[in-house]
Amino acid sequence: MLKLYNTLTRKKEVFVPIKKGTVTMYSCGPTVYNYAHIGNLRTYVFMDMLRRTLRYDGYKLKGVMNITDVGHLLSDADDGEDKMAKAAKEQQKTPREIADYYTAIFFRDLERLQIGKPEIIAKATDHIADMISYVQDLTEKGYGYETSDGIYFDIGKFDGYGKLSRLNLDEQIAGARVEVNAEKRHPADFALWKKAEKNHIMQWQSPWGMGYPGWHIECSAMSRKYLGVPFDIHTGGVDHIPVHHENEIAQSEAREGKQTVNVWMHGEFMLVDGGKMSKSLGNTYTIDNLIERGYSPLAFRYFCLNAHYRKKLNFTFEGMDAAQTAYDRLLYTLYKHKTASAPTDAALLEKYRTQFGDAIDDDLNLPLALGVLWTMSKETPSRDIFALALDFDRVLGLDLQSAHEEQADDEPVPEQVTRLADLRLTARKEKNWAESDRLRDEIAALGYSVADGKDGYTLKKL
Ligand code: AMP
Ligand code: ZN
Repeated sequence: MLKLYNTLTRKKEVFVPIKKGTVTMYSCGPTVYNYAHIGNLRTYVFMDMLRRTLRYDGYKLKGVMNITDVGHLLSDADDGEDKMAKAAKEQQKTPREIADYYTAIFFRDLERLQIGKPEIIAKATDHIADMISYVQDLTEKGYGYETSDGIYFDIGKFDGYGKLSRLNLDEQIAGARVEVNAEKRHPADFALWKKAEKNHIMQWQSPWGMGYPGWHIECSAMSRKYLGVPFDIHTGGVDHIPVHHENEIAQSEAREGKQTVNVWMHGEFMLVDGGKMSKSLGNTYTIDNLIERGYSPLAFRYFCLNAHYRKKLNFTFEGMDAAQTAYDRLLYTLYKHKTASAPTDAALLEKYRTQFGDAIDDDLNLPLALGVLWTMSKETPSRDIFALALDFDRVLGLDLQSAHEEQADDEPVPEQVTRLADLRLTARKEKNWAESDRLRDEIAALGYSVADGKDGYTLKKL
């Protein structure tokens, strides 16, 4: 019996799909103005875990993910420049070129992490007409009003505003740091459509003149178009709860006159060195950055699976080293089962199958499910254990099929490399992180990756 935690009710609930056997699901996708960082990717690993668990439990999936290529302003509330337009200007490209470039890299990263693409990928710019008609419906029903710079949603007309975040409006306003706009009826009213200034790079014809959609409207319009209302599950990161999803609920429920999403699910944030990831701190790592440092993308996936999706996950290179080591060890440990011909007692297999199923069905307890796999891998070598591990891998997505022998690395490490690694160890002891990073790059340039242990290091050929 699958139980999922619903942000709306703050409870784990038994999952019952609207239509027997099929799950309809919408996932907020990336804003494609930059490379996805490992935090963003954690949220998509969570989406993938959910999709794989549903499939493992025998459901068919109809999943939609949007690609935000217009309308997401610098602040989640409606201030600042459009992120796409800003990136286009800075990089002297068209917004379409920017979107295509970062979308392609995003999908390559998903593939590297074995994150399956949802069945339907919907770009905001391909759905402008749907959004315009959605905004028209809202204004006709009295929920939208026009100002000199756009069409706004009147939250005063919608009773349930704040029910997802459980913030009252004062907190909401403080949290969103909504800019005071004298024409708005309420400071937290948000833009459904923005009127474009002449030189705005992205604009479309609408009943309100040339303009572009607000960010939130794309998710209401596209989920309705592809999944209908209500649908089963909506996912996103926790940062979406107070503004983006609150606004989506207001738009959708105002238009439909009923609840449109049954289960809201949110992935917690990834931190780096205990703090926020930010460009100014230089700690917004990408998957490419991890590969450059000698890690495999699936070791990062392992790192994510090892923490429950509703818990904050602190990324450190020490933690990543441990994940890489554990992932490698898992593949070596499973190799003895891969090559075994002996069978295993059916009752023992059933015990592990049940434990694994119970873990994932308990609101996706992947850390526990991994624990079951580890315990099972320590059994006497058996081909049945390997077959069962591959069955679990339908959920884990760790490419366990590639289980292999530990390679003896006989080639001696060049002295120059060990010398640099020693210098790096000293730098680390002195907490000189900049020097330690510089030395890591120098070691990488010589073809080695360095993993930090408690009082030493290990060097691996790249
Ligand atoms: P964006 O491209 O900014 O729209 O974000 C893409 C997804 O990544 C959204 O679902 C966000 O909630 C999520 N996200 C952003 N930062 C983090 C983070 N540090 N950890 C986990 N998820 C994040
Ligand atoms: Zn969204």
